[in-house]
Amino acid sequence: MMRRIKLPGWIVIILLLVGIIFGINQVLAKAWMETPETNEPNEKIEDSSVYPGLNIKTKTKETDLYTLSVSQLYTDNEQINKSINEWVDKQKKEFTSSIKESQNMLEKNDFRAHLNIQVETKKIADKLYTLEFQSYQITSGANGMTKMKSFVIDMNQNKQLQLEDVFQLDEEATEDIQRLVMEELYSNQKVSPYLFDDMVKKSLKDSDEWKWSVSRDNVIFYFDEYEIAAGAAGSIKVEIPMKKMKPYLNEKFTEQMDVKIPENEKHKEDEQHSENKAKLDPDGKYVALTFDDGPHPEVTPRILDTLKKHDAKATFFMLGSQVEYYPSLANKVDEAGHEIGDHTMNHQDLSVLGLDQIQEEMQQSSNIIEKATGRTPALLRPPYGASNGDVEQIASDLGHPLVMWSVDSLDWKSRNAEAVYEKVMSTVASGSIVLLHDIHPSTADALPQILTSLEEQGYQMVTVSQLLELWDETGVGPYYGK
Ligand code: ZN
Repeated sequence: MMRRIKLPGWIVIILLLVGIIFGINQVLAKAWMETPETNEPNEKIEDSSVYPGLNIKTKTKETDLYTLSVSQLYTDNEQINKSINEWVDKQKKEFTSSIKESQNMLEKNDFRAHLNIQVETKKIADKLYTLEFQSYQITSGANGMTKMKSFVIDMNQNKQLQLEDVFQLDEEATEDIQRLVMEELYSNQKVSPYLFDDMVKKSLKDSDEWKWSVSRDNVIFYFDEYEIAAGAAGSIKVEIPMKKMKPYLNEKFTEQMDVKIPENEKHKEDEQHSENKAKLDPDGKYVALTFDDGPHPEVTPRILDTLKKHDAKATFFMLGSQVEYYPSLANKVDEAGHEIGDHTMNHQDLSVLGLDQIQEEMQQSSNIIEKATGRTPALLRPPYGASNGDVEQIASDLGHPLVMWSVDSLDWKSRNAEAVYEKVMSTVASGSIVLLHDIHPSTADALPQILTSLEEQGYQMVTVSQLLELWDETGVGPYYGK
């Protein structure tokens, strides 16, 4: 039935060529189509963290009765996340129940309670970290309460290290360690007058109850406020040099620690950055969009993309705790020509802190931002907009004007793009400073529509510093926008 058709050689060659060219075109067309035009969230988050395997988000909440801020640390490992979250949740529960108890008093004294959970990340060796959590809560004007908790985690093995993974304990070793810790406690003049001997003994007795962690140079033991001493001593941290502790540590663990960590911290040269210095027209319509609480590994890149598409400039009030994890993301924001302001280190309510703490909260984050971007932040936004005379004084000493807002998008409350859009558009005016957060995906969803509408109404998006310059404002503020 089939007849074989013989084609001349040149026709075969032409057919082949057509086939090849058509094939290449198809591939090219496909490649074009696959080029992501829209913002692809969550490309590979881990890459941007300076602590491979670890990521962080700062969660905040604000009610009439209290403010709350939690540095939420997460890894790829569910088990590790679970044990961290359990501790964090416990702190939150204790806080909310103590608020319920003192609700009447809080209302009567017009005092807002505050819970702050922050984390210090210490790299011990490659992918080996100590996470030192500190929970600070204050529910009355009198005094706060601090609790410590540490997790030593190994992201090579994907697990949280337990006592037996780090220590090599028999009865003698346990006694030696107890003695070392006691020596340290009693030789510390700030602590020793307040110690209760029987409580010290009791809390050291059972090694399973020890609260400990490891840094590169020390083994650290923790005691909560009131656990072994009067309140005046606060929470206590005892550091025993690694040299003294080595005989009591698990060999496999110390071997891991001996591996040198490659240090490849880059230091950016101070670059010229004069793109946005053009003077604004006093009769122009301007809006300063501000994004707080980032940088966030998924949301901030989306916001940056949208701003770029609209050629809009904005101000990002960043947390030191977030920039510490994502310095290259902070640098990207800076390089895109946006302004970076300081939003403090740990998002504490500054109005309930002492002078030293306020200063530290501001200075620490400012240093971290400077290290990441090569530029010192010029502005400060106090968390929750909470300020007082002390805060203003220290901000003034540091030369950081306080920046509040005149339009609250309530994005943290609604978490709904449509609602965020409506709220901004119904309250915006020329000279507005708009409060947004680059940590909620819904805010990133709302931004394209907000920018399009603002442009249609003739607004230009500028940084807060540009607005202040236009208004000839050089004081410490606080500035609310118009
Ligand atoms: Zn904030």
